[in-house]
Amino acid sequence: ATPTAVMVGSGVAAARGVLIKGGDILEATAGTDVVIMDKTGTMTKGDVAVTEVITMGGQTSNQTLLAIAHEVEAMSSHPIAKAVVKHCAKAKESNAAVAVIAVDDYEEVVGCGIQATVVVNNVRHAVRMGKKGWAGSAEVGGGENPQRGDVGSGYGTQIYLALDQQLAAIFHLSDSLREETGSVISYLVEAMGTDVYMCTGDQQATAEAVADAVGIPTSRVVAGCMPADKQNLVNRLKEQGKRVMFVGDGVNDSVALVSAHSGVGMGGGSEIAVDACDVVLMKDNLWDVVVAIDLSQCVLRRIK
Ligand code: ADP
Ligand code: MG
Repeated sequence: ATPTAVMVGSGVAAARGVLIKGGDILEATAGTDVVIMDKTGTMTKGDVAVTEVITMGGQTSNQTLLAIAHEVEAMSSHPIAKAVVKHCAKAKESNAAVAVIAVDDYEEVVGCGIQATVVVNNVRHAVRMGKKGWAGSAEVGGGENPQRGDVGSGYGTQIYLALDQQLAAIFHLSDSLREETGSVISYLVEAMGTDVYMCTGDQQATAEAVADAVGIPTSRVVAGCMPADKQNLVNRLKEQGKRVMFVGDGVNDSVALVSAHSGVGMGGGSEIAVDACDVVLMKDNLWDVVVAIDLSQCVLRRIK
């Protein structure tokens, strides 16, 4: 690529809030034939909210459970954590007189949730809060339905709170689609001829509900992903000779972003490490995925 064309192209993109880190990236982006998108925070807004909490009625009072959830999630920057903290703030205040809670050994397990030891009135408890199967696996009536507790166009999921390996509560959460997601995906597929996949750490049922709404066939959905599973999907498609773009917003996307030919990060309000990205979309608008590909192709045509 001639330096001038690359400079002008990158400048035009930057003025739109699309940061492309150099000529090699421009070339990789122009050649994209598969786009893999993360779900939460990428296809959806990630403006997660708690819609309902179902407690299991164990020894710990509901008030205290919510206060525990508040204390452990306050240490995480995940969109789910922010929603839980917001929801449980009142419970934390009114609980203050009942139980004194301290958090120890906090650990975030990327793709699964968080774990810690909490000390409640001098008694230590192991806490896990996160996805089903990792935090708690008890089957509970109604707990499986991803649409439950939805508001409007929300796409809900559930988070399990386990206290000493016992399921203590299920949090129902809603999220909403970005307005442009469906149109961007049909443009990528129909106008640009790219193949689009969804991959997510979230559960299968929620993933399929979102995929269905944005026109991605179930065969192109990979749910329950750990960060390494996202990376494996990238590598599998690369081995098939595809030029792979990965679009994500979270720390759980970092390894996949690095492995892809073109790693695109939502740079606006997300928790992403900008260093892991080749392209950063400052305005968090998915149309800029199309802009990045289109503009890169345009620059390359001028050079050849
Ligand atoms: P995605 O790939 O859709 O962006 P993540 O990999 O960030 O999702 O999260 C995968 C799953 O891990 C979430 O759906 C949730 O069940 C669980 N999880 C991750 N972080 C947290 C947290 N701080 N609190 C509770 N659950 C969490
Ligand atoms: Mg995400």
